[in-house]
Amino acid sequence: MLGSTGSIGVNTLDVIARHPQRFEVFALAANASVAALQAQCEAFAPRYAVLADADAADALRDRLRGTDTTVLHGEEGLQRIVTADEVDVVMAAIVGAAGLPSALAAARAGKTLLLANKESLVMGGHLLMAAVRESGAQLLPIDSEHNAIFQCMPVDAGARPSLRGVSKVLLTASGGPFRGWSLRDMQDASPDQACAHPNWSMGRKISVDSASLMNKGLEFIEACWLFDLRPDQVEVVVHPQSIIHSMVQYRDGSVLAQLGNPDMRTPIAYGLSWPERIDAGVAPLDLVATARLDFEAPDESRFPCLRLARESVAQGGTAMAACNAANEVAVASFLDEQIRFTDIPAVIETTLERVQVVEPTAVPVVEQADLEARAIALEVLAELRPAKAPLRY
Ligand code: NAD
Ligand code: MG
Repeated sequence: MLGSTGSIGVNTLDVIARHPQRFEVFALAANASVAALQAQCEAFAPRYAVLADADAADALRDRLRGTDTTVLHGEEGLQRIVTADEVDVVMAAIVGAAGLPSALAAARAGKTLLLANKESLVMGGHLLMAAVRESGAQLLPIDSEHNAIFQCMPVDAGARPSLRGVSKVLLTASGGPFRGWSLRDMQDASPDQACAHPNWSMGRKISVDSASLMNKGLEFIEACWLFDLRPDQVEVVVHPQSIIHSMVQYRDGSVLAQLGNPDMRTPIAYGLSWPERIDAGVAPLDLVATARLDFEAPDESRFPCLRLARESVAQGGTAMAACNAANEVAVASFLDEQIRFTDIPAVIETTLERVQVVEPTAVPVVEQADLEARAIALEVLAELRPAKAPLRY
């Protein structure tokens, strides 16, 4: 369980705790949250706990002395737990580009990979999908839209999703907390307002992405990689109630949709139990109480991030990694109250104009593109905030 103390992590452990006969937690991993990981280790008694930060890992080791949990740290620790023979399933729920190496290692080791960390596909989709194909790993998308698409796709004889008869995918977006806001009002939006999502409770980074619609941009890229779709086969539809989680349109005019209350435990439980279904603790959908399902086209003049993500797909190569990296820097700086909400797309657009795009032939190439884009995005931030101290993210 990578990213166990985050929003997806906590929801995953909630589903696991409902099925003690079915699942055993082998390892939990987080960034630096010693107290939260300690509490999870006490509840789930994993063989390993991993913290990215070495000092935090020392502190956790002290606190877990006398238990059966061994504490590791850093990327090496993550690599060790995801490739361990005892592990069948890896939940990849680290936030951001930091999640790529461990997700890739799990794919190469042939594990069942439950992928919540969409940034790893956006950055290194080519490499991750190749690793899955070569090792025979089973990749199950946890992002609710992609999980919905997976559920609505036809399957081939090997029970893999197939594109037979599919004309396109309708990727639904809630529109986020600023759906009805003017650009002028968005300029003054605070981090807390951006994180107040109307339907979903999530980590702060993805919440800001949802407010800017970059989340849908990242998901657009994610859908192309996961289901081998051309960009023109993915259409974004704003659906404010978040009851339909996405749809697949077929050549004969049929549209299959997956519906449910907006609760991440549904796609998490589906991933954990696939191809079976288990109780997820989610309230049954009451369609009469829901009453309405609305749809509208996204407004790219107020939400340029969606266009930027699409343009990075058209640019190809490492442009998607650069788009993701610039977004991570811009979002961190917005959450840090250093730039305005409307500066986020400006930082990404200028970064994309300045980066060198190359073919993402290997992990170090993608990691280098990520680092270069972060450095350029920091320069763009410095230009936006003249005479202020330089930032580091
Ligand atoms: P979060 O911020 O709540 O949690 C992130 C987790 O990752 C934490 O446990 C943190 O300790 C850990 N982490 C961060 N950096 C790390 C590192 N270097 N090494 C090890 N652990 C590290 O984020 P979240 O909302 O749970 O999102 C996680 C991922 O799932 C993101 O990629 C997000 O886009 C995706 N996702 C989330 C949701 C949701 O409902 N929250 C829905 C769809 C997709
Ligand atoms: Mg999603």
